[in-house]
Amino acid sequence: MAFQSPYDLYELVVGLEVHVQLNTQSKLFSRESTAFGNNPNTQVSAITLGLPGALPFMNKEVLKKATLMGLALNCQIEPHNFFERKNYFYGDLPKGYQTTQDQLPIAKNGYLEVRFNQSKVEAIRINRIHMEEDAGKSIHDLSAYNTAIDLNRAGVPLIEIVTEPDINQAETAAAFINEIRQIVRALGISDGNMEEGSLRCDANISVMKKGATTYGTRCEVKNINSMRNLKRAIAHEFKRQVEVLEAGGSILQSTLNFDAETGETSVMRSKENAPDYRYFPCPDLPPLELTASFINELKENMPKLPAQIAMEIVEEAELTYAEALIIALDEAGYDFYLKAKTQVKQIKALVNWLIGPLRNYIQENNLRYESAPFTPTQIAEIINLVEAREISMQVVMNDLLPKIYPEAKVSSLIDDLNLRISDNETDLMNYISEVLSQYKTQVEAFKKGKKGVLGLFVGEVMKKAKGKADPQKVNSLILEKLNEI
Ligand code: ADP
Ligand code: MG
Repeated sequence: MAFQSPYDLYELVVGLEVHVQLNTQSKLFSRESTAFGNNPNTQVSAITLGLPGALPFMNKEVLKKATLMGLALNCQIEPHNFFERKNYFYGDLPKGYQTTQDQLPIAKNGYLEVRFNQSKVEAIRINRIHMEEDAGKSIHDLSAYNTAIDLNRAGVPLIEIVTEPDINQAETAAAFINEIRQIVRALGISDGNMEEGSLRCDANISVMKKGATTYGTRCEVKNINSMRNLKRAIAHEFKRQVEVLEAGGSILQSTLNFDAETGETSVMRSKENAPDYRYFPCPDLPPLELTASFINELKENMPKLPAQIAMEIVEEAELTYAEALIIALDEAGYDFYLKAKTQVKQIKALVNWLIGPLRNYIQENNLRYESAPFTPTQIAEIINLVEAREISMQVVMNDLLPKIYPEAKVSSLIDDLNLRISDNETDLMNYISEVLSQYKTQVEAFKKGKKGVLGLFVGEVMKKAKGKADPQKVNSLILEKLNEI
């Protein structure tokens, strides 16, 4: 029998708790700005401090954004939901309780299809999405003896997304977070930036023997601030837990800290339970009642999500999912695509331009699709001309795009600039002879089977022709010539 490593005997089980900071102007229950990076403790009202007599009130934008996320994750929206107080003491929580949702969250029982490529999809069930306020920030590295506290972040709105323990691989966990980030950006409800903390993730991790019917005891790992660290934390815990169990020990339910430097976890505290927090409905905030029209309006105006857009593009343009996603993730680029699509002869050609040369051109010249010096109609026309071998891609990139302006008539501009392909075979054959005698060693290499050098010859001939040649024609003429040598 083949040797079986102990790790192969176990299955990984992961459930995620993802906090998303919503990008509202003001806080969840008060008017202070949520802007990041201002002087510490300058955005703190009596409400945030929980001073006597201060009364919180609901920010309606939060309600909209949380509902949108619920809809995007295929949840049931709970029209009657309410806030509760989660009681605990910590310096960055001056009120002594976090206002959050417990018994009745705004959304529950959803799922997210995590897509790896065209055909591979994994559905992860969403247990709930609830709204809550963020705490302040404890700063430990200002002084060796004291902890400083900045309360600007206290009261900033969050949604927490809780998955069922459906994740069996670190890759899936990372793909889930990636997809959540794409969705919150597409919905415009958060910047989803993990490094800056607007997307934070705790991972509940356990292991069980393959084929077991009950879950093992889980540990909750905190302080994971990147996708890479999420994968590292999961891998580390899987290994650690298997080793503990194989040595005859047992896993203690606990909250662990992830250390990005060592890649290891350490115990922060043994796990507290819900009753410890003495949750009770917040007497200062009336229960929320979402009307059907409020929910329906959000549903009707919900933008298409990137995965859906990408799948549509995959179908109409025979691309891979990863390629299509490049367009789907760029709102303005997708808009440009939609406008140009109806005017090109081949959608596939358009998409190749959008994820290739045009994308590079936009990036290199610091342009944006919204304010680019060319319109979708012009680009569609250019692509059709390239496909019809009227102009080469090289000339488009080097000579036409730098001169184009939105009102220009493409074919007149091409004529004015004298950019049309005008390759007569005599000229081309001369260029080819010149190039092949210039690159003798490469010609030898080609003869010995190194076919890759053909690209070099084509490029050099195209240069001599100032780009005004049809690369495919050049290609076949070179091959003919090489056969003769
Ligand atoms: P609590 O209220 O104590 O935080 P929950 O039931 O709300 O516990 O679960 C919190 C998270 O832990 C969820 O994401 C859930 O999927 C995950 N989870 C629950 N049991 C396990 C387990 N045995 N292994 C891994 N994750 C788990
Ligand atoms: Mg919980």
